[in-house]
Amino acid sequence: MPAPSAATFKRLADLVAVPDAATRPTRPVLEAFTGKQLATVPVGTAQDAKDAITRARTAQNGWGDRPVVERSAIFNRYHDLVLQNRDSLMDMAQAETGKSRAAAQEEILDIAMTARYYARVAPKLLRPRRVAGMLPGLTKTVVRYQPKGVVGVISPWNYPMTLAVSDAIAALLAGNAVVLKPDSQTPYCALACVELLYQAGLARDLFAVVPGPGSVVGAALVESSDFVMFTGSTATGRLLAEQAGARLIGFSAELGGKNPMIVMAGADLQEVADAAVRGCYSNSGQLCVSIERIYVEQSIAPEFTRIFGERVTNITLGAGYEFGIEMGSLISEEQLKAVARHVDDAVAKGATVIAGGKARPDLGPLFYEPTVLTGVPAEAECYRDETFGPLVSIYPVAGVDEAVEQANDTEYGLNASVWAATKSQGEAIAARIRAGTVNVDEGYGPAWGSTGAPMGGMGISGVGRRHGPEGLTKYTEPQTIATTRILNLGGPRGVPPKLWAKILPPVVKALQWIPGR
Ligand code: NAD
Repeated sequence: MPAPSAATFKRLADLVAVPDAATRPTRPVLEAFTGKQLATVPVGTAQDAKDAITRARTAQNGWGDRPVVERSAIFNRYHDLVLQNRDSLMDMAQAETGKSRAAAQEEILDIAMTARYYARVAPKLLRPRRVAGMLPGLTKTVVRYQPKGVVGVISPWNYPMTLAVSDAIAALLAGNAVVLKPDSQTPYCALACVELLYQAGLARDLFAVVPGPGSVVGAALVESSDFVMFTGSTATGRLLAEQAGARLIGFSAELGGKNPMIVMAGADLQEVADAAVRGCYSNSGQLCVSIERIYVEQSIAPEFTRIFGERVTNITLGAGYEFGIEMGSLISEEQLKAVARHVDDAVAKGATVIAGGKARPDLGPLFYEPTVLTGVPAEAECYRDETFGPLVSIYPVAGVDEAVEQANDTEYGLNASVWAATKSQGEAIAARIRAGTVNVDEGYGPAWGSTGAPMGGMGISGVGRRHGPEGLTKYTEPQTIATTRILNLGGPRGVPPKLWAKILPPVVKALQWIPGR
């Protein structure tokens, strides 16, 4: 199966929210497997982003007032369309990023699951809610959820479909409009997903895609939107947090990780090795939740290193638009250099290569072998810093306490994986880890795929959460409407103020006996 056709790129290019696109400067979009040009994309400006926000604001007025079930119907249709069109979507995901077919499928399934989950729960989550009023029976208090307005979404290249649209799905269902700035290397992935959303019935101005440089288009979104959802590096996240903070607008960020796996004696090492391959090398390790550090109990460390090393050496690596190849390419020269630098630096400082350890230009310009290191010293860059590539290091530990201490010895706190003799031991270890998600007996999939549960980072791995109820309500302004009935705070007519002031404290005291107060 080849990359998507020129006609597909042309059709999708017409969807960018950049007027007179034919007259604009363009940027090439490359096929990662080969380095060949697939298409070009118009480069948007700060003004394009601001204009898209203005149009989005107008469109949002009516959208926010529509019954939630009507909004949900669009996303139920979208769920079906995404699954029906999965082959062409996977082709696009692979073409722009060089990822394996299986990693491309993860994106499609994630979008479908997120659309269905939020379509189902949004009516309930957004329903006005009665809470206990100030004075029982005398104060009627209702909490309502107003949309923020226009949400700016800034997304990265590694999962360029799901990270561009899944957060937007929740924002749209909450009644907002969205303006998206996709990563410049992967604009067509975002456009291919958004095209299906328009087909499902969403008005174009409610979800505009403005491609362009982060420092120009991304910055304009932060300057003019009402809430920013960012996925990307911790460095960019810090910058955007400052800008959003200065405007006092809401900001949610899913950032980097240096995710640990703990393997205790008694775990099935063959099973751990297979799962660690998924956990470390899915999407060629260019995955925020992928594992980069493995802490193994001393007594089983040699055996685990041997089993895992053999398994990694046998990973199938290559280009191809079909299932069966386990690992694909990296996305860019920059990524290739970053991975090679981390490996070479660790080896120069004394680390041992157990598997991989080199680029594979024979397979394509951006391939790098899945790599396992041992003996990585604390001075090596990859000891603490996120590699964001197919590199994992194994460290022996004396027992659970040292494993937990080492796992938590990081500023990051995104994801972790735990393997022990029993599931309950694994869960007990998991509860001691400072990370937003922990998977017992798997790498990252079950926690990420539990769409009903919050996902996000502690420490410098993020602010706020996606998925779960909080992944939708963060896009709302909760509003309390309290209506006074029968009696107002001045007391009953005819009761002297002094007497009323005496009555109030015992009344407040008595309120403590009423449930829910
Ligand atoms: P990046 O921060 O360089 O870029 C992400 C997006 O931000 C891109 O669209 C980029 O154009 C834009 N951007 C860059 N500078 C900007 C600026 N000054 N103002 C506004 N926008 C700007 O990140 P990346 O290298 O593309 O992505 C990899 C990083 O993302 C890794 O650290 C990875 O861990 C993280 N990530 C996190 C998650 C998560 O859910 N926690 C998911 C995927 C990736």
